[in-house]
Amino acid sequence: MEVINLGVTDYNKALDLQREYIQSVQSGRSFGRLILLQHSPVITIGRNGSKENILASEKILKEKNIEVFEVDRGGDVTLHCPGQLVGYPIINLAMNGKDVHKYIRNLEEVFIKLLKDYNITGKRIKGKTGVWVRAASGKADQKIVSIGIGVKHWVTFHGFAFNVNADISYFSLINPCGMKNLEMVSLSKILGREIDFFEVREQVVKYFAEIFGIKTINGFPEWIKRKATYNHNFKKVNSIIEEFKLNTVCESAMCPNINECFSNGTATFMILGNICTRSCKFCNISHGTALPPDKEEPERIASAVKKLNLKYVIITSVTRDDLPDGGVEHFVNTIKKIRSLNPNIIIEVLIPDFKGNKESIESVVRAKPDVISHNLETVPRLYSEVRPLASYSRSLELLKTVKDFNNNINTKSGIMLGLGETKEEVLELMKDLRKVNCDYFTIGQYLRPNKECLPVKEFIPPSEFEKYKIIGLEIMNFKSVNSAPFVRSSYRSYNG
Ligand code: SF4
Repeated sequence: MEVINLGVTDYNKALDLQREYIQSVQSGRSFGRLILLQHSPVITIGRNGSKENILASEKILKEKNIEVFEVDRGGDVTLHCPGQLVGYPIINLAMNGKDVHKYIRNLEEVFIKLLKDYNITGKRIKGKTGVWVRAASGKADQKIVSIGIGVKHWVTFHGFAFNVNADISYFSLINPCGMKNLEMVSLSKILGREIDFFEVREQVVKYFAEIFGIKTINGFPEWIKRKATYNHNFKKVNSIIEEFKLNTVCESAMCPNINECFSNGTATFMILGNICTRSCKFCNISHGTALPPDKEEPERIASAVKKLNLKYVIITSVTRDDLPDGGVEHFVNTIKKIRSLNPNIIIEVLIPDFKGNKESIESVVRAKPDVISHNLETVPRLYSEVRPLASYSRSLELLKTVKDFNNNINTKSGIMLGLGETKEEVLELMKDLRKVNCDYFTIGQYLRPNKECLPVKEFIPPSEFEKYKIIGLEIMNFKSVNSAPFVRSSYRSYNG
């Protein structure tokens, strides 16, 4: 059974996804799927529910940006919010005994077992669905997991909502499950600390597999699956790269866009070899001891650019902490050679941080590329895990330094989502970029290039990328924001 780990997802998008998966399970194309995600605050009313159990006025709900959905599941009113693990198992009960009650009891069992790992006694209450925990003596039990399911031709949908780090105060807006005075609780509230959400999610999957007696694998949402299509240009670009003995980040980083970009006659050249002196945990490029710079490489790149008839070229490099100048001279030579052979070309350089060396940064600026790009890659909290030898503040300072030296050069930065960052952290990062006058911003989905790299924590739905784009353009005033799952910092840069 495939487990699809998504990030914060709009409620209606999750409904669409469930409908799609129900069809594939009903038709036998898929054995079953377990969708795990979080929702922005949203209230749902089940088949047995009533609007009377929403205590907040429409005005308050509007102010808090909380939508209300009437949905086709059992149960009354409930609420979803970030920090709550929502699971939608799409399972064919016809292959599992056609027993809806047993299915619900099994779902409850997943959490009763999991809570035991935290020395918490989870319990059922007769005649009600969900999982409760014993409150201090004299007080009513508190609900920690809500369950409300739908079944269509024996295929299940909707599912469970487990309060991990959820802000319980949201539940004061409703009578949860239609029960007055029902107290909700979260794992973090019981334990008095923030819980590692992704760790708990893994435990849920583990007990789900154990109790339902199934094997699970991590799957990809449909928007990450692409058919490999390419045209005659692919071969042409490849043969020019080979002819001039060049490296591209497209190949070295196993970029998922390689078919498209090569077919469009473009590639991003990677100078200074193909061995990096750093060991970022998201990157496919080999790490180790690098060779001295190849003095002929700038000339060959310029010739390849001419032969490819590029109007826009991006030059990047591995990080060369072993070289006294970080490889800046090689960058400068490459820019000069490209310009002299291709006078009208637009040149973008995607540079390493040169350990923050201002002289090196100034040298690149003086070579006058049109765009200087430097990727932040992820939010500062995740740097030690994702980019252990880099520094968030140093990277920001680099972008600022470029502008200090020459305000006319456009700067650009990019990040990957799906490494465990929160939306708030992404928005803070975007603000940080605007504070240093960064002009262009790119956001894409992190995809694990090999088993040594960090796993994908969650797949961010395309609609969330679209929201970042709108915020970036309309509120933060970036000159351009390229935001979609397959965006990489060099993706379709020629489009501006
Ligand atoms: S997105 Fe960039 S790195 Fe990826 S294939 Fe295209 S040009 Fe190469």
